[in-house]
Amino acid sequence: MSRIADLNSDDFAALRQKILTEYEAFRARGLKIDMTRGKPSPEQLALANGMLTLPGNGDHFSEAGEDARNYGNLQGLAEVRTLFAPTLGTSPDRIVVGDNSSLALMHDCLLWAWVKGVPGGTEPWQKAEAPAFICPVPGYDRHFSILEEYGIRMLPVPLKGDGPDMDMVEQLAADPNVKGMWCVPKYSNPSGETYSDAVIERLAAMKTGAPDFRLFWDNAYAVHHLTGTEHQIPDILDLCEKAGHPDRAFVFASTSKVTLAGAGLAFFASSPANVRWYLASASKRTIGPDKLNQLRHVRFLKNEDGIRKHMAAHRALIAPKFDMVNDALEKRLAGTGVAEWSKPQGGYFICVDAMEGTAKHVVELAKQAGVILTPAGSTSPHGKDPHDRTLRLAPTFPSLQEVALASEGIALCILLAALEKLHS
Ligand code: PLP
Repeated sequence: MSRIADLNSDDFAALRQKILTEYEAFRARGLKIDMTRGKPSPEQLALANGMLTLPGNGDHFSEAGEDARNYGNLQGLAEVRTLFAPTLGTSPDRIVVGDNSSLALMHDCLLWAWVKGVPGGTEPWQKAEAPAFICPVPGYDRHFSILEEYGIRMLPVPLKGDGPDMDMVEQLAADPNVKGMWCVPKYSNPSGETYSDAVIERLAAMKTGAPDFRLFWDNAYAVHHLTGTEHQIPDILDLCEKAGHPDRAFVFASTSKVTLAGAGLAFFASSPANVRWYLASASKRTIGPDKLNQLRHVRFLKNEDGIRKHMAAHRALIAPKFDMVNDALEKRLAGTGVAEWSKPQGGYFICVDAMEGTAKHVVELAKQAGVILTPAGSTSPHGKDPHDRTLRLAPTFPSLQEVALASEGIALCILLAALEKLHS
């Protein structure tokens, strides 16, 4: 299709009428498809059905002979930490296995830092004059919600395709009020981008005004490849240590989108001082994690190769859905100049930049047609996208047929919203 901006007024009017008619026909189909959240589909969850009968009657002892049914072992079974050490890119002694949600661990770490402070700091974060966090945008809405909950200022920094704008990050981090930064370094939510080695090295090495600054390194999509290439990122803990900031990074990950989203394992990994800090705080809220679930994971996934094979089965189910969305956007929007979108190599999302000032309208048009999208603005702090253009598409949960229908409709809505905007 030709660029909309280059059409003469007759061609523009004809196109607008055509797209309006197509939209009305789409709306008349009365669809009901939810593309809001990055959830695994029932077929993906079924890949882990073998876990439901594990560890099995009588199988409740760890390699060290601990009874997994009982209280204790706050750090998590050694064999589980060994199994996931390559995924986390660090050694087992630097890993803590939590219960099922890494978001809960991030929340806990932030709250403990807020109330008690972290190693290397002289006071709780809440005592800072105007505590703030650097927030790469577009980002994950639940990260922003945690900061909002505690009244922590959010400083948006654009992502550039290979990670955040580092000149801006370095400038902001020089302020002693800036206590931390969210990072989803691999297959980011929602842009899908992976931070380059150079960006990661700068994050590890940069000077920060706050001596107790922390990178909240949410490696949620560490093994969630959508292509045959398993993109790797450098070990942030190692780089921070080499740069003389051994305590800078809190690393998080989970098996929510590996095994079972509601019954996976969550991980915290960091320097020895931070691990001690974490365990001291965690010991006040629990006598120990669910170690039967830890055993279940070891029995089911077995080793690194087991994780790799399991993730390849996920990929076989979801990569066609991502292709489907891309094809629909390509077919309807390529060359129009009204939208750009990511082609992720991993993760759970496709990020679309629609025409400036139209994202809210696109979401409304899609809703009218029975396709529910993540609210426009949710990828920015406080849910406010200053450009009103970014949309997050989550194609994993609906069936392939639903994704095909929904993406056709979404492309139509993006085009219609742009035409209406240009018409007004
Ligand atoms: N971090 C990111 C970047 C996510 O996209 C998600 C879920 O979509 C989570 C964390 C949630 O992780 P968990 O299920 O381990 O709490």
